[in-house]
Amino acid sequence: MLKEIKIKTSKNQEIINITDKVKQIIDNSGVDKGMCLVYVQHATAGILINENYDSAVCNDIINKLEEMIPSTGKYKHNCVDNNAHAHIKSALIGPSETIIIENNKLILGPWQGIGLCEFDGPRTRKVFVKIING
Ligand code: ZN
Repeated sequence: MLKEIKIKTSKNQEIINITDKVKQIIDNSGVDKGMCLVYVQHATAGILINENYDSAVCNDIINKLEEMIPSTGKYKHNCVDNNAHAHIKSALIGPSETIIIENNKLILGPWQGIGLCEFDGPRTRKVFVKIING
C-alpha cells in the first residue's frame, strides 16, 4: 500500500511534524503488523525521527546544521540554483525512515516523532508512505 502526503512548507528551513498524518494512514490501512517507510522524493528535504515534544529541539537541529553548513557559504553547485547548502543538509539527514508497525501502531518512543525537514522552502513537498504487511 502506497500513500502520498502533500505538505506545504512555510519557511526556508524548518522541521514539520508529520507523525499524526502517518499514524492516520496506518490507522486507515488496517495493517496489524508490518513496516512503514516514510520517504521524501526531493534532494533538498529529508525525513527525520527525533523529539517532537519540545519544539526547541527542531530549532536547535536547524540552527546547528545552518552553523555547520551555512546557506551563505561558497559551493560549486550555487552557480546552478543557489541551494548547495540544502543538498548537503538533505544528504546528512537522508530521504527516509523505516518504522515497525505492531498492533496497528507505529513503534515510536514517547518523545519520538517523524519530521519532514525543509532546507529550501517554502514549497510543496511530496512524502510517500509505503506500508508492508507482514
Ligand atoms: Zn540544487
